[in-house]
Amino acid sequence: RADIPRPILDVLQRLRELGFAVFLVGGCVRDILRGVAPKDFDVASSALPQEVQGAFKKVIPTGIQHGTVTVVIGGNHVEVTTFRSEGDYLDGRRPSSVTFERDITQDLSRRDFTINAMAYDPLGRELVDPFGGMTDLHARLIRCVRSPIERFSEDGLRPLRAVRFAAVLGFTLDPATRDAIPPTLPVFRKVALERVREEFVKLLLSPRAELGLSLLVETGLLEAFLPELSSAGDEAARMARAAVQGAPAEVEIRLAALLADLVRGSQARDIALRLKFPTKVADTVGLLVEHAALEERTEQAEPALRRLLAQVGPALLEPLLAVARSRVEARQPERLPSVLRLQERLRTLAAAKPPLTSKELALTGKDIMAALGIGPSPQVGEATRFLLEAVLDDPALNESERLKDLLRIWQAGKGV
Ligand code: ATP
Ligand code: MG
Repeated sequence: RADIPRPILDVLQRLRELGFAVFLVGGCVRDILRGVAPKDFDVASSALPQEVQGAFKKVIPTGIQHGTVTVVIGGNHVEVTTFRSEGDYLDGRRPSSVTFERDITQDLSRRDFTINAMAYDPLGRELVDPFGGMTDLHARLIRCVRSPIERFSEDGLRPLRAVRFAAVLGFTLDPATRDAIPPTLPVFRKVALERVREEFVKLLLSPRAELGLSLLVETGLLEAFLPELSSAGDEAARMARAAVQGAPAEVEIRLAALLADLVRGSQARDIALRLKFPTKVADTVGLLVEHAALEERTEQAEPALRRLLAQVGPALLEPLLAVARSRVEARQPERLPSVLRLQERLRTLAAAKPPLTSKELALTGKDIMAALGIGPSPQVGEATRFLLEAVLDDPALNESERLKDLLRIWQAGKGV
């Protein structure tokens, strides 16, 4: 109770005074009971949305048809959801109807896993745990509320959530819950890829991503949304998972670590787009995958390394190094020292801030036209590329007089 924020307690207190049943529910109860600070607090109450609106000065009707309103209290936002049960699921995605309930047990019984289906009233110090969530929490088990086959058939996302919670919490899937995944895969396949991606990202960034990915493979879930990985062969897939585990927990980096040795950069980008990642994330993943094999560059000289910097952009150097390190550590640890030496060379090169783009040339497009005595034409672009290549070979050339000298030589050679 000491760890529950004041505004939450105020909301609980007020609704209680008005005679409504009100509890903390879902993930925050699980986390409080595990001794972990909850990320957010969900409040559920017997009060109908209008009744909640009547109980506080300022209330935003966030999702009123689903029973959720946001109470604004002392500048803080607290979401309050009316107890509800769900009608039949018709499409494996969404319930056909939502019914408001006055009893917390109804609300808990629509929730996915026993550890997520407890309610706690910190004022009355009451725990409502009709499905054995506390026992499963101690046994570190992910177990469906009621029949796993039915629950997974209702909402195809739940099997992925089961694996995600196993990875995030380091828990085991209860056998019946686990066995219900393969037969309900057709329902999982219908789930919108945005929802799949959200859960997949949580799994990928979890401290046990490697275990989560193994579970995805074993249950057949991965095949349904990332067939590229499951067709890779056991050993390649195992090393890809190890690379993910060893990489820093950033989504672009972990996704690139997963895909780098299985597909090309352009395919990695397409996969990210298919999973509805933002274009910018997909572009980054594509670049990181394309250039991830730094172990092949350990003998390269500075000009080639500057070209690499120009291709990925200096901002992506550290992510690229992270992907390369984790892959090499997982696959060929004996090559790590040489990759680390290359890493230092690349960092030193980047720190010198050499010109890497035509914008950074000491001559502008106008200067180049004047020097060549020509107007706008394709030759200007050609000359610019020539100068950039020269400067990537030797950054010391990036002075206007030296570039003009180079242009004269280029022009003589071309007969322009
Ligand atoms: P996290 O800490 O990762 O946010 P969480 O338990 O809060 O974990 P949410 O996805 O935020 O997870 O969902 C909040 C609660 O809503 C869950 O604890 C669960 O009770 C319920 N819930 C969420 N998604 C589903 C679902 N697809 N089917 C049934 N219940 C669900
Ligand atoms: Mg949550």
